[in-house]
Amino acid sequence: MVREEAENRLSLIAELILASRHAVIFTGAGVSTESGIPDFRSPGGIWDRFDQSAFNYSSFLSSRLSRQAHWELFRTLSHHIEPNPAHFGVAELCRLGFVKAVITQNIDNLHQRAGVPDDLILELHGSMKNFTCLNCLAKYPLDNVEALMRSAEVPECPHCHGILKPDVVFFGESLPRDALERAASHSRSSDLFIVIGSTLAVYPAAYMPEYALSSGAGLVIINLTATPMDNMARVVMHSKAGEVIPEIVREVKRRSRSC
Ligand code: NAD
Repeated sequence: MVREEAENRLSLIAELILASRHAVIFTGAGVSTESGIPDFRSPGGIWDRFDQSAFNYSSFLSSRLSRQAHWELFRTLSHHIEPNPAHFGVAELCRLGFVKAVITQNIDNLHQRAGVPDDLILELHGSMKNFTCLNCLAKYPLDNVEALMRSAEVPECPHCHGILKPDVVFFGESLPRDALERAASHSRSSDLFIVIGSTLAVYPAAYMPEYALSSGAGLVIINLTATPMDNMARVVMHSKAGEVIPEIVREVKRRSRSC
């Protein structure tokens, strides 16, 4: 994208944010790749390294091999990762009062660690913050489980040796009802819906921008590669979120100072 074209799009996004009454941000794995966590579908992403067919809830319960594959993936998500400028930019837009909800498909807790308040976050696919024993229902924070990961390939409940599972939604499981309903309600009430780093290919999460569009919201998409909804968006930027979001925040602040 030539620089002038990119600047026009950044200005338009800032203008839309300033004019909005109910802006919603929707994020996917792409907002966290610059923190070192691979996404699913990009080259070199998780599905290039793992066999996708092993990843579903019933295999996790019935097969140790599947559990082993899942734990390898959990390790990728639990290393010492830090929020990147895109997470901090989203948190700053929240702090400035422009964002009514951050709907995320991510399970990495990086939005909260960047400063997005808990009451604005809707985690559609759960979070790796806590793990639950499927047998005795004991809960363990990630810190405790990281210690177990160092000594076992497939960690078990230290109390009863039951299967330990992070509080995330596996393929084949339902999404948490409360988060899904609140996300759908925010999407339907939104007048601006900003997608950051998602292929918009995983449902029901990908219904959210559809709800927003059908309620007349303006759609903005910031994603490295094309998505099936690009042709419905007011503004599309095929750029890195960690580069573009801080620019948008700067422009929003500059314009709100001069109002
Ligand atoms: P996806 O892998 O399908 O798509 C990610 C998209 O982000 C791609 O289109 C890619 O082009 C884009 N992208 C990659 N790096 C980017 C960057 N720096 N800036 C802007 N865009 C970038 O992921 P998805 O749409 O989120 O859906 C798949 C599922 O992945 C979700 O359910 C989510 O739970 C899960 N997931 C989460 C994490 C995480 O928590 N960090 C990591 C991997 C997968």
